[in-house]
Amino acid sequence: MLNKYDVAIIGGGVTGMTLAHTLAHNDMHVILVIDNADCTLQQTQIKHEKRNDRAFALSHNVISFLLKNKLLDECDISKEKRIDDILVIDEDEKELVSISKADNAGNSIGYMISESKLRTTIADKLKTTLHNVELLFVTSIDELHVDEGEVLIHCTSDGKKIECKAKLLVAADGKDSFVRKYFNIASYERSYMQTAMCFNINHPYSIKNTAIEKFSANSTIALLPYSSPYESSVVLILKNQSAEKISTISNSALEKILTLELRNLCGNVEITSEIQSYQLMEKRMQKLYHTRTAFVGDAGHVIHPLAGLGLNLGLHDVISLSELILRYNSVQIDIGAMTLLEQYHCDRKLQINSVSLMTNAMHYIGVQSNSKFIRNMIKIGMNAFNCMNPLKRKIMQNI
Ligand SMILES: Cc1cc2nc3c(=O)[nH]c(=O)nc-3n(C[C@H](O)[C@H](O)[C@H](O)COP(=O)(O)OP(=O)(O)OC[C@H]3O[C@@H](n4cnc5c(N)ncnc54)[C@H](O)[C@@H]3O)c2cc1C
Repeated sequence: MLNKYDVAIIGGGVTGMTLAHTLAHNDMHVILVIDNADCTLQQTQIKHEKRNDRAFALSHNVISFLLKNKLLDECDISKEKRIDDILVIDEDEKELVSISKADNAGNSIGYMISESKLRTTIADKLKTTLHNVELLFVTSIDELHVDEGEVLIHCTSDGKKIECKAKLLVAADGKDSFVRKYFNIASYERSYMQTAMCFNINHPYSIKNTAIEKFSANSTIALLPYSSPYESSVVLILKNQSAEKISTISNSALEKILTLELRNLCGNVEITSEIQSYQLMEKRMQKLYHTRTAFVGDAGHVIHPLAGLGLNLGLHDVISLSELILRYNSVQIDIGAMTLLEQYHCDRKLQINSVSLMTNAMHYIGVQSNSKFIRNMIKIGMNAFNCMNPLKRKIMQNI
């Protein structure tokens, strides 16, 4: 084990592994500090478990980046999981917004990919760059020290105390970021008082590569293409109290409720996986950096999952930060310099703020607002947006 690296990344989730692979592939020396409890990278033979898997919607741009960097292969994104259209409807199934391939220069809008498939595929690819990446499994990070010259990390691994140095520290350690707390960096946080329940369903009618989002007064349901035209991934968003009640009923009772909501769209519903629940929070840092430290993914920002864009934003962070690191390194400028970190923040803030704003506005039309007036105003706004094709195209280009 070396003890001096170019970049130290804390967190072996999708954003941490993708950044480590991208930098290592370009001959930078990286140490990836991984929580011992996180087992994807510890397995020698990585297998993914499909049945209880939730799926992510990833945009065309993000998928292109993963394909170009050989983190995914064409065969990982089958045609059943393509999203060619997005349809947003209200409780009466009236169209509010529709986006099609034509709004995305003829390309599919995105692809669904299972979380475990994504994690295991990227972990496998990362293992091909181990000549440049050190994987350090830790039981604890005992001390972090950053100053004008370097980053110093003290941790415990396998009962041993380890010390390593780097020019830049990257926090990719998720929504409860240890690094953010360690440096005592304040972040804006609020609970949406909502729960997202994720599971898969079978149904008799095909949804034909369309991602459907139905907003009602009591729930928001996203229906997304999964492994076949007749199996979809569902994200059901409810107020916390309603989610608590729903969690006590049987699957067959929930299937009846869902069938009532979705009958016209996909027919009778059968739940085919376990239900995973997530309490929804918004978190944002004022700046995505600290001395010699950059924050990527959920460590820097957590948004409402309504638009399925959280991980997309995280991977755009990785694209932006890796480009800057490689550019600075190629002309031998310090990659921990404040100018790089300021530029990274500047490059990312517009997209992150505008996506947060958009998802916050959308969540008001659904479960959140008891005011018919507010709901109607947002519906009018969405209808107006639906007529603005150039704006839709501009947004799709940038996601
Ligand atoms: C219901 C729901 C649906 C969603 N759907 C979508 C979607 O369709 N599309 C989309 O783009 N996004 C979606 N998201 C958002 C997406 O899940 C997150 O944005 C994404 O998983 C964040 O990835 P990450 O790598 O930043 O963080 P994480 O996946 O949280 O990874 C952080 C890693 O850091 C590790 N770690 C933590 N602390 C330490 C430590 N002290 N030392 C070492 N390691 C540590 C953890 O073990 C973990 O492996 C959804 C979110 C929810 C809740």
